[in-house]
Amino acid sequence: MIIPAYIARNARKYPQQEAVIDGTLRINWSQLNDHVEQFAEHLACDHHIQAGDRVCLVLPNSYTFIVAHFAVQRIGAIVAPINVKLTADELHYIFSDAETKLIISCDLTKQQAELAAQQLELPLLIINDMPTYAASHSQGRSFHQLSDSALKTPATLLYTSGTTGRPKGVLFDHQAILFVGMMFATEMQYTPASRLLSLMPLTHSAPLNLTLVGGSIVGSTHVIAPTFTPDLLLQLVQQERTTHFFGAPVAYLLTAQHPAIQKADLSSMTHWIYGGGPMAADHAKLVQKAFNSDQFYCVYGLTEAGPTGSFLAPQDHAEKAGSVGRRAALFTEMRVVNDAGVIAAVDEPGEIQIRGEGMMRGYWRNEDATTTTLTDDGWIKTGDIGVRDADGFFWIKDRLKDLIIVGGVNVYPREVEDVLASHPAILEAAVIGVPHDQWGESVKAFVVLKEPLTEEALRDYVATRLADYKRPRSYEFRDSLPHNANGKVLKHELRG
Ligand code: ATP
Repeated sequence: MIIPAYIARNARKYPQQEAVIDGTLRINWSQLNDHVEQFAEHLACDHHIQAGDRVCLVLPNSYTFIVAHFAVQRIGAIVAPINVKLTADELHYIFSDAETKLIISCDLTKQQAELAAQQLELPLLIINDMPTYAASHSQGRSFHQLSDSALKTPATLLYTSGTTGRPKGVLFDHQAILFVGMMFATEMQYTPASRLLSLMPLTHSAPLNLTLVGGSIVGSTHVIAPTFTPDLLLQLVQQERTTHFFGAPVAYLLTAQHPAIQKADLSSMTHWIYGGGPMAADHAKLVQKAFNSDQFYCVYGLTEAGPTGSFLAPQDHAEKAGSVGRRAALFTEMRVVNDAGVIAAVDEPGEIQIRGEGMMRGYWRNEDATTTTLTDDGWIKTGDIGVRDADGFFWIKDRLKDLIIVGGVNVYPREVEDVLASHPAILEAAVIGVPHDQWGESVKAFVVLKEPLTEEALRDYVATRLADYKRPRSYEFRDSLPHNANGKVLKHELRG
């Protein structure tokens, strides 16, 4: 069935059960289904949204986001959730690229969207109270609804965060998203009794497809808030007795430092899930200790693959923390391909490739990029360099584009970052390549401290752990590093 059909199914099966908790708003499946139907009618009849049209959401995590997402898909249109932190220029680019028919926003996040919409003369719908809005704009009119079996219909357009260049639209049909949602619901044992905490932006593929869609297929309850803070995480877990949380590594690190964690009762949580970026082994151990739990799952994947990829299970953390697991996710295959284009040997670096049921259809109106990324037989070239060890575990070394070449020798920034991050005085570190007269490039480190540390002491620490050519030649100490909305370090900003 197409994705929104699961909302209707839940409304039949568990009408009174809580579907969404957003602040003081508590909505059951029957109400959610009504609002989706009412809003879909409004979009189709009053805004003339038709099958295939693109509707952009510039909304924080909110009940409005959830209703709008499913309503757009209900009429066979394509929903494009956009990162609310983008500037008017960036939004202008995405609205034009998607050939947007309508933008939906709210007072909290409308500012930049309004500017871009005005420049492009696009209609902008501001909704702050979705239950009232949906009910008051519905007159029970009939409208075209996508058939429940039309699984090959395009459903979602997700823009990459642009850490590797201009954002590209990644297009999925209902079938791919259904597989991604089912994969995660099965792997993470979602049930109708599960309570999924969503604090990471739903505009990103993992929170959207793994949590919102996965949980909605099963009928789990969504507990949402507009943004992540360690306080909110600790508060909502305890208040709502949530069971699952997906967060970027930095979200876990910040929470692990928060004094309130020491007294927090986190016993309801059965699944602490992290991913979207690397977590060094030392950090993983520190986080497990602070959270007083061994129920940590690392997920690896990328937007273009749904995201699907692989998992590191809780029981493997003791031996293999820092790796992304030995097992490809359900419905997914993963391999390492070397420079010669064949499967890499044990510990031989190569590009990670992923294939499965949840892959994108392709980049939105960008045939060249699609053929560069998707092989003829359906493998996605991730652009990540990795190895598979003798026990079959995958380790992501770095992204191809971040590789630093010092005097002709490859330096994987992640290896250097992991060493820096293992120092107890360091909260976060990132390294980049900078031009060097003799060697072509050398390593530069950006470091955020949590305790005082001199550069000299840090150099001594690194000298005993890294070969000379891998050691940073310069250090910059900062109060914080630039992150995107998903918690990833923006290396292009560090490169300046
Ligand atoms: P863009 O594609 O524009 O660079 P992005 O980096 O936000 O944007 P995503 O699809 O969100 O794109 O990120 C996927 C990438 O994140 C992977 O290719 C990989 O480099 C990294 N990644 C994801 N999960 C993990 C993980 N568990 N460990 C290490 N790296 C990870």
